Amino acid sequence: MADNIPSFKAADLVVELSSTLKPKPDVLSFGSAFSDHMLTIEWSESEGWKAPVIKPFGNLSLHPASPSLHYAIQLFEGLKAYRGVDNKVRLFRPMLNMKRMATSAKRACLPAFDQLELLECIRRLVEIDQDWVPNLERASLYIRPTFIGTEQCLGLKKPANALLYVIMCQVGSYFDGEPKSVSIWADPKYTRAWRGGTGDCKMGGNYGCSLSAQYEAVSHGCQQTLWLYGEDHQITEAGTMNVFLHWINEDGEEELATPPLDGIILPGVTRQSILELTRKWGEIKVTERYLTMSQLCSALKQQRVKEMFGSGTASMVCPIGHIVYQGEDLHLPCQDKDSLLTSRIAKELTDIQYGRTPSDWTILMEQQ
Ligand SMILES: *Cc1c(COP(=O)(O)O)cnc(C)c1O
Repeated sequence: MADNIPSFKAADLVVELSSTLKPKPDVLSFGSAFSDHMLTIEWSESEGWKAPVIKPFGNLSLHPASPSLHYAIQLFEGLKAYRGVDNKVRLFRPMLNMKRMATSAKRACLPAFDQLELLECIRRLVEIDQDWVPNLERASLYIRPTFIGTEQCLGLKKPANALLYVIMCQVGSYFDGEPKSVSIWADPKYTRAWRGGTGDCKMGGNYGCSLSAQYEAVSHGCQQTLWLYGEDHQITEAGTMNVFLHWINEDGEEELATPPLDGIILPGVTRQSILELTRKWGEIKVTERYLTMSQLCSALKQQRVKEMFGSGTASMVCPIGHIVYQGEDLHLPCQDKDSLLTSRIAKELTDIQYGRTPSDWTILMEQQ
């Protein structure tokens, strides 16, 4: 792979350190306290990839016709750096993000790059700004790789210029202590993704257009949208999380189920990790299968539902407490903490991320 894709190389990195470092914020809030440096890598059709640059965090200068601004020719990724109990900084399965980013780039008609070289550049960036990785359990440094079309032209075509950049910001704990459950609003009138669309890629266009449904959910007293699909109201995702149902299925078997990757589901790194983890336990049936609202409703009536939760890098696992659907407020059970998968999965994954359990799912940063 590495040899035949023309790519930037981490060995060519140019590092320009900031002369003044910003104070770290006292209170962590999602997405606003950015670290001191950023990574930028320019590409053009005529010259290919330029050398990657790590430089002081700052604004971009973009031509107003840039296709990322007009046609959403852009994509992003989201992963985190965690400071472990041993004070070492780790990334969690970052190659899965690199791979997903390469898939999104292909779909967005943005140029290919070598995934390992990008990971190496990101590692250098995290190492340089490692003081920004919070020393607090459940807090972390969020890493946002972004890839945008920058050609100075309004034509709708493959951009002849592009910019790949990576910024990082501190994120606080999503939950204080125990994960709190969320309520979600399920209305089939909105669609997040459709077959043949881009719902399985992290492309910005998928997210901006989901915002008004999100606010409508809030106006119904809910925190998130449950995205349904098709005539049979298939359950697909909750907000920007994959969904899991832990239940006794139609055949009387205990099952952990999540919708299959059929083009309308974002292939979450957390989703994949939960599937691999619970399959390794070998205790219950773990399946990727379709789940409809009518199956959920009858399982709830027959008390076959144990718990339902969302998964993603931001919240890891997020229990779902209520679903508002067709005028009904469906209560999902999530009592009896100790028997729930949600807490057990959250513990096993955080133990890996914060270095309590050694695992080849993490990559260690070098300490400066
Ligand atoms: C990012 C994202 C997820 C979660 O993916 P992770 O890799 O686990 O963070 C799930 N659904 C959507 C729509 C997303 O954008």
